[in-house]
Amino acid sequence: MADVVIAGGGPAGRALARACARRGLATVLIDPAPARRWQATYGLWADELPSLPASAVACAPSTTLAFGTGPHALDRQYLVADNDGLREWLSGGYDVVAGTVSEVVPGRLGSSVRLADGRAFAAGVVFDVSGDRRILSGGTPKGSRYEQTAFGAVLPAEDALRLVDCPDAAVFMDWRGTESGFLYLLPLGDGTVLVEETSLARKPGLPLELLAARLRARLAAAGLDSRGREERVRIVLDVGVPRRGPVVPFGVAAGLVHPATGYSVATSVRLADPVAAAVAGAWDRGPAEIATAARRALWPSSARTVHELRRHGLRALCGMPPELVPVFFDLFFSLPIGLQRAFTSGREDVSGTTEAMTALFRRAPWPVRRHLIGWPGRRGLLRSG
Ligand SMILES: Cc1cc2nc3c(=O)[nH]c(=O)nc-3n(C[C@H](O)[C@H](O)[C@H](O)COP(=O)(O)OP(=O)(O)OC[C@H]3O[C@@H](n4cnc5c(N)ncnc54)[C@H](O)[C@@H]3O)c2cc1C
Repeated sequence: MADVVIAGGGPAGRALARACARRGLATVLIDPAPARRWQATYGLWADELPSLPASAVACAPSTTLAFGTGPHALDRQYLVADNDGLREWLSGGYDVVAGTVSEVVPGRLGSSVRLADGRAFAAGVVFDVSGDRRILSGGTPKGSRYEQTAFGAVLPAEDALRLVDCPDAAVFMDWRGTESGFLYLLPLGDGTVLVEETSLARKPGLPLELLAARLRARLAAAGLDSRGREERVRIVLDVGVPRRGPVVPFGVAAGLVHPATGYSVATSVRLADPVAAAVAGAWDRGPAEIATAARRALWPSSARTVHELRRHGLRALCGMPPELVPVFFDLFFSLPIGLQRAFTSGREDVSGTTEAMTALFRRAPWPVRRHLIGWPGRRGLLRSG
């Protein structure tokens, strides 16, 4: 019998498996294709994961830029993960099993995890880290959801210079030239640049074909075409915060996605150790208490409050007329960097998140303010989502 079974071998599953193993817990990670390479290009802020080793970084661009209606140089290092290096860093100390988890049967002393091929694994605690499939936590979110969608192409770095004339820059957002989406540019560290036409948040997400057509038009206008690798992004932004139950979700499955940015990798990696520590600390108190301790470590009340504030930010942005969105981002990227960091990365930082939202409101012209007053904290002016 294992102490911990983890269903899902993406970045979150592997981070959690490593953290549990380091806490002395016998850990088994199950994934249908554990050797499959991660295809997505993962970006993160360096200050979110100070422990990341150089081997897990493909590129650390020299400059981070953002454009609303005008340019902003951000005093914050952005990183592109080296997926193989990241995976290697998150390996070791746990068993990896190739298999498809199909169900969990909870019992008094733990749970039995059943695989599609009939195998079963007993464990003290089971984590569902299967991404937005949420195979053991209610399935893929149903109905129309807020989604971030993007279509990207990989270009030689010299071609990308025709889009943003700044070599070796990560462009977090460029709203110039289009109001209903932005361009994201990321040097990949191998002489190429990922150029992504992105729809920040929409319910439902903007179709990928439309984004692909926009990207091709944008490239054609700059005298470019795309023949390299392509990237398709669809991230559900409003995965719910998990309720009680014997299976503990983690990663995207646990709603760790930032509702206004779509990011989750750094958060999942950072939270793996506190969650593993909670499991180890509650170990002698039995399966129900272990699961409760893990959930508390994942979603302390401060994180729930920040999550709600971020969700209000998401709704305010989605309700804004397209021509005001670049103005909103001019305001956001003019905030002191500490406040920008608080909003994008301060998951338990209630006061920092509130301060960032309030500071932006104070600086905003009335046409923007009108769309922000649905944010909480403006008593009497709340509107329904
Ligand atoms: C193209 C793309 C780019 C993204 N870029 C970023 C970014 O730059 N920064 C960022 O922070 N986030 C980004 N995201 C969002 C998010 O962080 C990623 O989706 C990330 O991979 C989520 O990690 P995860 O481990 O929670 O889930 P996943 O990576 O989705 O991993 C889930 C794992 O569960 C496995 N699984 C599925 N079904 C079963 C089953 N029945 N039994 C066992 N295992 C199962 C899958 O095989 C998979 O390995 C991006 C997403 C996409 C799609």
